[in-house]
Amino acid sequence: MTGGRAPAGARPAEPISWPEGYRAAASFSFDVDAESAILYSSPGSGRRAGVMSHQSYGPLVGVPRILDVLHRHGVRATFFVPGYTAERYPWVVRDIVAAGHELAHHGYLHESLEGVDPETEAGYLDRGLQALEDVAGVRPVGYRAPMWEPTWATPTLLAERGFLYDSSLMDADVPYELKVGGSGGAASSGGSLVELPIHWSLDDWEQYCFLPGINEAAIESPAKVEEMWRLELAAMRELGCLFTLTNHPFLTGRASRIAVLDRLIGSALAYGDVWVAPLGEIAGYVRTLGLTPRTLTEPTVP
Ligand code: ZN
Repeated sequence: MTGGRAPAGARPAEPISWPEGYRAAASFSFDVDAESAILYSSPGSGRRAGVMSHQSYGPLVGVPRILDVLHRHGVRATFFVPGYTAERYPWVVRDIVAAGHELAHHGYLHESLEGVDPETEAGYLDRGLQALEDVAGVRPVGYRAPMWEPTWATPTLLAERGFLYDSSLMDADVPYELKVGGSGGAASSGGSLVELPIHWSLDDWEQYCFLPGINEAAIESPAKVEEMWRLELAAMRELGCLFTLTNHPFLTGRASRIAVLDRLIGSALAYGDVWVAPLGEIAGYVRTLGLTPRTLTEPTVP
């Protein structure tokens, strides 16, 4: 085994320079899954009124509370909305847009893409796009794969539809340009997509989601969650990273959890040198840097 430079296809993402005066960035993102994620993974759950009410709490109570917190801090955020959520709660989605936040794509019925062929995936993308267009008149520039489960074809399918960025991958904690037309998928359209990486530790699902028969994880204390996220924000600031928090309104909309979000946004702003912006704005900035695109390579099983 010898050391040395990584081959071109395996270069890690490099640190980037943030806009003047900032040493790191933070973005607060909200995945408005509502019923869709549960209906897709467990279709019979639609007959379970209790489970469905747990999910509808998101758009009905969570989103208005989140909008209020963001408004008080003067912060704009990104809301990833499945098409089915948009059609079921059109007024909620219009409120998000009217408040100046970014609306982004999150599938139609929060479809898992594991093992899905590019044609089927393209169908989900187009149906989701149509729903956001019909309900809110918005053509999103950002995408997040449901369950953070993109395929190797996803970047190409997104580029073909004019998306600027994806926020579903975990091989970095700074933004980078992802070369389009790697392994698998539809014909290459060339070019690149901005990738804004995420991670399970900055997601409220693993902390708070308990659903009988569906996701029977322990419900964690918001105090523990706050400590975890604060530590990560502080350390990512030191390293010049992008802190991307992913929250679900049906989870973080609850009283003590929304208080955690409130304080966390306050902390990010109080640093004074952390750029707090919607993901679309961050992606737009990254695109101006002219970074050399990285290639993601599908491993071959020996
Ligand atoms: Zn989701």
